[in-house]
Amino acid sequence: MSKHIQSIRGMHDALPHETPGWQRLEAILRELMAAYGYREIRTPVVEQTALFKRSIGEVTDIVEKEMYTFEDRNGESLTLRPEGTASCVRACLEHGLLHNQQQRLWYMGPMFRHERPQKGRYRQFHQLGVETFGMATPELDAELILMAARLWRELGLADEVKLEINTLGSNEARAKYREHLVAYLRQHHDRLDEDSRRRLETNPLRVLDSKNPEVRAVLQDAPRLDEHLDEESRADFLRLCDLLHAAGIRYEVNPNLVRGLDYYNKTVFEWVTTRLGAQGTICAGGRFDGLVSQLGGSPTPAAGFAIGLERLLALLGEGFGEAQAQAAAPHVYLVSLGADAEREALVLAERLRDQLPGLRLQNNAGGGGFKAQFKRADKSGAAFAVVLGEDEVRQGVAQLKPLRGEGEQEAIALDALAEILRARLFG
Ligand code: ATP
Ligand code: MG
Repeated sequence: MSKHIQSIRGMHDALPHETPGWQRLEAILRELMAAYGYREIRTPVVEQTALFKRSIGEVTDIVEKEMYTFEDRNGESLTLRPEGTASCVRACLEHGLLHNQQQRLWYMGPMFRHERPQKGRYRQFHQLGVETFGMATPELDAELILMAARLWRELGLADEVKLEINTLGSNEARAKYREHLVAYLRQHHDRLDEDSRRRLETNPLRVLDSKNPEVRAVLQDAPRLDEHLDEESRADFLRLCDLLHAAGIRYEVNPNLVRGLDYYNKTVFEWVTTRLGAQGTICAGGRFDGLVSQLGGSPTPAAGFAIGLERLLALLGEGFGEAQAQAAAPHVYLVSLGADAEREALVLAERLRDQLPGLRLQNNAGGGGFKAQFKRADKSGAAFAVVLGEDEVRQGVAQLKPLRGEGEQEAIALDALAEILRARLFG
């Protein structure tokens, strides 16, 4: 048995060599959001359990078996958010953000689902979520898809991902279709697996999502959702296809794409890759025109998507954060030896940071001889070492030593150091 307390299964640390990749991705995402006029919203990671039950649906994978639900000390049932859409709608309603106005919003942060951990599937994972309110048009659906497409291009992933789209129709059309589907699946009950039989009773559309080959074979001849569509959904979907065509976006219509949450209607889409094995969906979204009223607001058209950031980073690979890490390395590592020099170093470090905004300076402060300190200086990635020994302090100078490439060490008067560094680093 290990003495050390370990992290919770399926919940991971982002270590210092990994955070540059996260930071670079987050910066790119922020810029992307601004480029389309989206504003950030931040909501708590914990909400009342009822919020998720009511929005995601009682008989979905998430609510049935994946939520981290617990009792607060006052007996209230709380849940760690398994996704962000419900929280976003809750916040918008609570603060009147949907009253006679349109919203384009985004958020980024951890989500929690009690799933079986495997590559690309974690119990704490991170999403970028994008949600829009008050816009019912296929143009808005296309905008969401184009945002994601632009992201893949910027990240050099355009050839790695593929867009699948479908329309679920109106709630009424879907209810009617549901009857046909159930009747058909009942005829083939013996060929369904246990999961599909259960879904047949609780949430039959989810059977369309099955990955079991035998079930998929049964689905081949099942009644199709697109044969039961309402006129408006059909027209909007055709319009979306037309818009994507005009924008040069390739897509595949996948009639079995239904999404795992109950609140979707009309357009749904997923961006998938074949490079991550079974966990191939990196972005998923669609319309959820019914959700706002379901949570107590006035009927408000809405649409959005979420990107799984762990899966996206896996696709980007290890080198993705390298430039970011280099760009964050200190310019200067300050070496000092002896009590006087160490005091002087601390003061000098502050003065240099005052004089040179943007300067990244790491002060040794951790003791050790010159040799150990130079080793640390080298490892820090700094371009220069500034060295203060007892002699230097007495003479009022510091040694400036280039750590990369050419250049000799030279003694510089302490009050000239800032200007010399400015010229060498920012000149
Ligand atoms: P999946 O079919 O892979 O379970 P989902 O339909 O449950 O996905 P959504 O709820 O639509 O996923 O979440 C959007 C995105 O968030 C997914 O496409 C995926 O990239 C990511 N995601 C979902 N669950 C996890 C998880 N447990 N670990 C890591 N990423 C996840
Ligand atoms: Mg899932």
